[in-house]
Amino acid sequence: MAKMEFKAESKRLLEMMINSIYTQKEVFLRELISNASDAIDKIYYKALTDDTLSFEKDSYYIKVSADKENRLLKITDTGIGMTKEELENNLGTIAKSGSLAFKNETEIKDGHDIIGQFGVGFYAAFMVADVVTVTSKALGSDQAYKWESEGAEGYTLVPVDKETVGTEITLKIKENSEDETYDEYLEEYRLKSIIKKYSDFIRYPIKMDSTGKRPKEDNEDELIDYTEEQTINSMVPIWKKNKSELTDEDYAKFYNEKHYGFDQPLKHIHISVDGTIRYNAILFIPEKTPFDYYSKEFEKGLELYSNGVLIMSKCSDLLPDYFSFVKGMVDSEDLSLNISREMLQHDRQLKLIAKNINKKIKSQLQSLLKDEREKYEEFYESFGRQLKFGVYSEYGSHKDVLQDLLMFKSSKEKKLVTLEEYVERMPEEQKYIYYASGESIDRIDKLPQTEVVADKGYEILYFTEEIDEFAIKMLMSYKDKEFKSVSSGDLGIESDEDQKSTDLKDEEHKELFEYMKSVLADKVKDVRVSKRLKSHPVCLSTEGDLTIEMEKILSAMPDNQNIKAEKILEINSSHEVFSSIKDAFDKDKEKVALYTNLLYNQALLIEGLAVQDPVEFSNSICKIMV
Ligand code: ADP
Ligand code: MG
Repeated sequence: MAKMEFKAESKRLLEMMINSIYTQKEVFLRELISNASDAIDKIYYKALTDDTLSFEKDSYYIKVSADKENRLLKITDTGIGMTKEELENNLGTIAKSGSLAFKNETEIKDGHDIIGQFGVGFYAAFMVADVVTVTSKALGSDQAYKWESEGAEGYTLVPVDKETVGTEITLKIKENSEDETYDEYLEEYRLKSIIKKYSDFIRYPIKMDSTGKRPKEDNEDELIDYTEEQTINSMVPIWKKNKSELTDEDYAKFYNEKHYGFDQPLKHIHISVDGTIRYNAILFIPEKTPFDYYSKEFEKGLELYSNGVLIMSKCSDLLPDYFSFVKGMVDSEDLSLNISREMLQHDRQLKLIAKNINKKIKSQLQSLLKDEREKYEEFYESFGRQLKFGVYSEYGSHKDVLQDLLMFKSSKEKKLVTLEEYVERMPEEQKYIYYASGESIDRIDKLPQTEVVADKGYEILYFTEEIDEFAIKMLMSYKDKEFKSVSSGDLGIESDEDQKSTDLKDEEHKELFEYMKSVLADKVKDVRVSKRLKSHPVCLSTEGDLTIEMEKILSAMPDNQNIKAEKILEINSSHEVFSSIKDAFDKDKEKVALYTNLLYNQALLIEGLAVQDPVEFSNSICKIMV
């Protein structure tokens, strides 16, 4: 029997394809099952138009069986089969076009240049098999043929007997090598799990014999072997079902079966789009933050199916980073696949789907916020931080999408409020949206800077997460209202009269303040009479874009560039401490210096900053005590 050469120009091509296209060997089964399913589709469509054929659902199936002893794995289908010519053309030619214009190997490795030129799924069988045998009888033909190949060397093609129409593919599974095991592809449980993973939603039953032991009927102590045929796949994908047929439990079950998370889904989104691009998707907003969510290890992405077959388990292009918490899957008939199905040839369709999904997630979150506030707050506790990162990242280009999803706790009721709610209940004369940054609500409430704003009856947003202030800086304003830190130099609260009187006081104590400033040297930009302090003697405020909270965060970063906020030491001129300083200024300059340093350090402590020299600080306190 003469061996025939593969038609492709290079034999090495096959080797390279086998070894470089697929990252996981287990996908060979997905490819063979997909081919079997395609072949059944063909007979199914023929039956639709040909009255002499009847399509009886029961007689169409795919069967997978393993023979461990002989290391054989068999995939049988009752599809349309292949004629001799088809076996030659479909399996004997790597490139169906027959014209391959590879320039060099690296291009092949890359896969990009040959993407889409031909289907090579079948050859994935050689990743796990030394010998592949295809016995097939085509619909309407009397003679069956056997195609056999050991890989790149070529193949044989001979007539054989086969009674029924369809195809039987037998793989002689490779022996284990030093760094690869192949035994697993003969194990029942492993095969089942591969089928479940990739081919669960193939329309036709994928059957396997299940073997085991069970008690004998008339004698329960005695165990007997049994073999039972099982259908492994669930066949009807939940996403193809009508939404009205499905309950919350169905979705939750799907979420758990798919191992999207160990928690319960907080909300599901079932999308069926039948427009320029057709797709179905089931998306979930998880209830709890995955343990690795805010770490580098976390990988975002949705499962991507093409016509019911899983082609990618984490397609990251489908989700923007700010919605990276969303889990689920997308199935589309309209995706063009490349040779390995692991990469998509054209991402235009994918981009369209991603855009569409993005919109749906946003509107789902908005309606959750509107109609199921409690749930939204639960969601926000878990993933709000990610939304704020989203506002901040990419130079704020997503802020319009996200600003209405943001929430902060506020001084009004210590509850989460949206920016819209804040702005809506602002008194008419209030110019800014006020916020205060700090480690906790408790600490913020004790900040001297909050006093005057709170006294005005203005609501203050609590910024307790590092990202908060950075995100808001990116937002700049909301509904034309600018954000203002309660620590900023100009609060926009004082009347012109107040302003005049503080200016006068500053003028009056000019010399004293100049002196205090010289004591503190470059630690502060200025020393001034405070417009905001009521009961506290002193505080720090800032000028410019950088606040003290931001300085803290930046200085904690690994590439700390020692960026400092421009600090102003504000003194409460109605406080007794100020009178003492004034007195001292005439009599004892050294005392003024001591007080100034103490006040400055106190202000640092209040802000949650470290005093620069704790020993000196403590010595200074002792000095006034004795
Ligand atoms: P693709 O499925 O992308 O066309 P494959 O390499 O997987 O590429 O398969 C090549 C071709 O071989 C198929 O298009 C089909 O015509 C034929 N084929 C493979 N497996 C079968 C099968 N089980 N029954 C009938 N035809 C098959
Ligand atoms: Mg295929």
